[in-house]
Amino acid sequence: MAEYLASIYGTEKDKVNCSFYFKIGACRHGDRCSRKHVKPTFSQTLLIANMYKNPAHDPNFHLTENQLQEDFDLFYEDVFMELAKFGEVEEMVVCDNVGDHLVGNVYCQFRLEESAGNAVESLNNRFYAGRPLYAELSPVTDFREACCRQHEIAECNRGGFCNFMHLKHPTRALRQELYEGQRMDIREKRKEEMRHEDEERRGKRQPHGDEREYSDYKRERRDSHDRRDY
Ligand SMILES: [Zn+2]
Ligand SMILES: [Zn+2]
Repeated sequence: MAEYLASIYGTEKDKVNCSFYFKIGACRHGDRCSRKHVKPTFSQTLLIANMYKNPAHDPNFHLTENQLQEDFDLFYEDVFMELAKFGEVEEMVVCDNVGDHLVGNVYCQFRLEESAGNAVESLNNRFYAGRPLYAELSPVTDFREACCRQHEIAECNRGGFCNFMHLKHPTRALRQELYEGQRMDIREKRKEEMRHEDEERRGKRQPHGDEREYSDYKRERRDSHDRRDY
């Protein structure tokens, strides 16, 4: 029985846990859902709800396709750079859906759970474009599972009100620049750390290496900490 329950956990067959919340991190019934939304205590993924305000949804704006893409690219870059401060970003996606529970949702999957946890804590005290941010850890583990297949292939007949993710993509060049840039940054940091460790090791091999002052030790500790804390 326990095995059966584990095998259907979070699927449509699961009558206790909500499959939409489990797979997509948001369900149209919200807190009134008849099935459980089990919030994770640890996760690599965070959700910032309703963060992107698409000017295409505002009747006062009449922007061309190019202007809309430009607006979105600026947003994507801005948020990516901010989130990357908390740790290595594996994937960041933004929903193009229009239903209340998915509109403008930003999901970010980090390499480490710790990064996602720190980001959630910090973002919940911040504002973006004049509105307070609402961030939470999300159970979503696989964006491919969360995305609408119909939308990916051609056109989804449920349009923007679909309950699976319809993603809005940044231009390919920007995407490449951000993820490549991040990889290079990480490589540089690792090299620098290795250089530092190497110097330290060589320093210790000197005959009077152990006679360093305690304040030197403290400074080195602080320095190596600062570098990790990008
Ligand atoms: Zn639900
Ligand atoms: Zn769809």
